[in-house]
Amino acid sequence: MRLSDLFGKTLRETPAEADTVSHQLLLKAGMIYQVAAGVYAYLPILWRSLRKIEQIIREEMDAAGGQEMLMPALQPLDLWQETGRDAAFGETMFRLEDRKDRWLVLAPTHEEVITEMARQFVRSYRDLPRLIYQIQTKFRDEPRPRGGLVRVREFAMKDLYSFDVDQAGLDVSYQKIVQAYSNVYRRCGLTAVVVEADSGAIGGRDSHEFMLIAPTGENEMIFCSGCDYAANVERAELVKEAGEREEPLPLEPVHTPEIKTIDELAAFLHQPRMKTLKVVLYVADGRLVMAAIRGDMQVNEVKLSNALKARDLRLASDAEITAAGLVPGFASPVGSPGAYVVADDSITLSANLVAGGNEADTHVKNVNYPRDFRVDVIRDIASAQTGDRCARCSGKMEMARGIEVGHVFKLGAVYSEKLGATYLDRDGLKKPIVMGSYGIGLGRLLAAAIEQHHDEQGIIWPAAIAPYEVHIVGLNMANRDVAEASERIYAELGAAG
Ligand SMILES: [Zn+2]
Repeated sequence: MRLSDLFGKTLRETPAEADTVSHQLLLKAGMIYQVAAGVYAYLPILWRSLRKIEQIIREEMDAAGGQEMLMPALQPLDLWQETGRDAAFGETMFRLEDRKDRWLVLAPTHEEVITEMARQFVRSYRDLPRLIYQIQTKFRDEPRPRGGLVRVREFAMKDLYSFDVDQAGLDVSYQKIVQAYSNVYRRCGLTAVVVEADSGAIGGRDSHEFMLIAPTGENEMIFCSGCDYAANVERAELVKEAGEREEPLPLEPVHTPEIKTIDELAAFLHQPRMKTLKVVLYVADGRLVMAAIRGDMQVNEVKLSNALKARDLRLASDAEITAAGLVPGFASPVGSPGAYVVADDSITLSANLVAGGNEADTHVKNVNYPRDFRVDVIRDIASAQTGDRCARCSGKMEMARGIEVGHVFKLGAVYSEKLGATYLDRDGLKKPIVMGSYGIGLGRLLAAAIEQHHDEQGIIWPAAIAPYEVHIVGLNMANRDVAEASERIYAELGAAG
């Protein structure tokens, strides 16, 4: 391959639209071409790297006992309605109608089709366990494609599915694939860490993510300095400090002109933030929801979303808050103001809190739960932050940023029960197949590798995934000796493979 023959164009200037380092470097090096928002062509040099990554993944999945196959991207919508994931994916799933008015989807993942196939092929415990995988294109209509290959709408993914007789079998399959994933990242020359994760739209019980540490990463992780606990901030557990024990005092309104934030309130009343009650108003699937939490903590929107089983969650606008009869900046659950209330369990840990008075420029002192207000749901909806205590060992926790490059799920019987994928056990009893699901996005992995391996001169490829191992530069090809030597080395290295 001669650079002078390359199909594609390198850029001298950093393109303005590129929002991450890997995006900038991929465009400058002429490796990707944007066809539409979040839709890219992979140009020849990049394609070589991607195929190397693909081959490493394939070898490790095969070594773990995986069987490779290929499922279609185009699938009937009915199948997705049977599991309820049509609704769970919502607008993220591409839907289309064929010429006979039948609805199809461009698959965002393949649990439905593989479970349907297992229903046909698995009859007895003798047909289990199985590890099945494919390397295939997925489609997700992301609301905000970004970062070049980090968040795209069409992408190649290796997805593997495990089928076992029981939970113990699943644990074995899960461990095998977690190990295979570690091998993949190591062989690609990358450092990845495993963290506990939220299972999101895929569902199931346990899930872990593999993260490449990078300051530009879109995920936040919490690490404990005292033990090996590591988790995505979306689900990280934390110890919530209890406030001082106090007798509940009578409610007392206070005039708090223009005091709208917790910091302003704490300063104005000379109270610690952990003696305040913070309220954040959201709209969840069209309904106004009041999230209540102690003032020294932050609402975690993923935990809140899970508590509500909400598909769509966003902050409420001042207009929406006012329309519900609430006062922006002064809302609280005190006096049952008529919003659905989800409270963090931290509100039970301090007494005599200051809360919004549900009137302009007014707060109320000495608010105590459950004496002064009711809630609809109470559970952990708080975000762990640097400095919080670990729930396992009470060590100090720290935050780091990373890019998710793999996600594994213990699905259990969620899909097999919905789609009737069962087997007969040794006693002839019908049981649901126990499943796991395991994914690596190839382009995402490559982009993350660049985020982790570059300097001001450009990409520093780990050797195993470099597009080429050798780059021969003939300085002054007009000089016959230079040209001849360059051509000879090129021919010799090519012949040597
Ligand atoms: Zn710990």
